[in-house]
Amino acid sequence: METAPPLLRFDGVTCRFGEVTAVGGVTCDIAFGSFVAMVGASGSGKSTLLKTVNTLVEPTGGRVLFGGEEVTQLKPARLRRRVGYVFQGIGLFPHFSVAENIAIGPRLAGEKLARERIAELLELVELDPAYATRMPDELSGGQRQRVGVARALAGEPELLIMDEPFGALDPVTRDALGRKVRELHERLGLTTVMVTHDMAEALLLADRVLVMDRGALVADESPRALLAGKGGTVAQRLVSVPREQAEKLAAMEGLGEPRS
Ligand code: ADP
Ligand code: MG
Repeated sequence: METAPPLLRFDGVTCRFGEVTAVGGVTCDIAFGSFVAMVGASGSGKSTLLKTVNTLVEPTGGRVLFGGEEVTQLKPARLRRRVGYVFQGIGLFPHFSVAENIAIGPRLAGEKLARERIAELLELVELDPAYATRMPDELSGGQRQRVGVARALAGEPELLIMDEPFGALDPVTRDALGRKVRELHERLGLTTVMVTHDMAEALLLADRVLVMDRGALVADESPRALLAGKGGTVAQRLVSVPREQAEKLAAMEGLGEPRS
């Protein structure tokens, strides 16, 4: 039986910067509709690998296929519409209003986003459409990141890529936005790849967790399999952090009323 190609395929992708091998031969498929988290220490090559998808980085070896086609063969404007990108850090243009920030992708492609569409995108990320005229420095960190997500969705992408989208946010805002993105993923029928350095976030939000270590993909497991001890040493070291926290909290609850 013929199976459809995956939405995204990394085929032996290698990225070298001079002496540094940021990504060393990564091969993996991302299926339509999946929500994949990518976890790994700082400098393990996560951002570099993501940037090969929209050709911000060109691999020195291997290929990246999007819908079965090599990304370097696709028209950049078209590719960037089909792939929504939430950058590491906040990444809004400070001198552009919220509306202008959201409309930047289509504008670069020579299109104008209607005011109604901008309002709709703001509503999607639960921001009041009145925020359209605000400047980024008039927003909280969480609101700015909601705008970042609205901007990534402006071109009606098939694939949503997020590079540590919630890293700078407080835990409560972070949890709410994580759940919002997962809900949008379902509602809009997206395929999502999210980089996070937080294994707990990965386990709670994703269907599948990829672990990067020094440029290599060292684990590719479901959250359930990771919690059952699979994925190898590096993955298990990352899983042990939230696990030990959860155990300590459970133990504290078991002690009942705090002693006075
Ligand atoms: P991560 O996102 O996992 O923290 P990166 O992909 O940003 O990791 O970086 C992986 C490695 O590649 C690091 O050693 C980083 O310094 C190096 N690197 C990334 N981009 C460049 C670049 N444009 N030029 C030189 N080295 C780079
Ligand atoms: Mg990074």
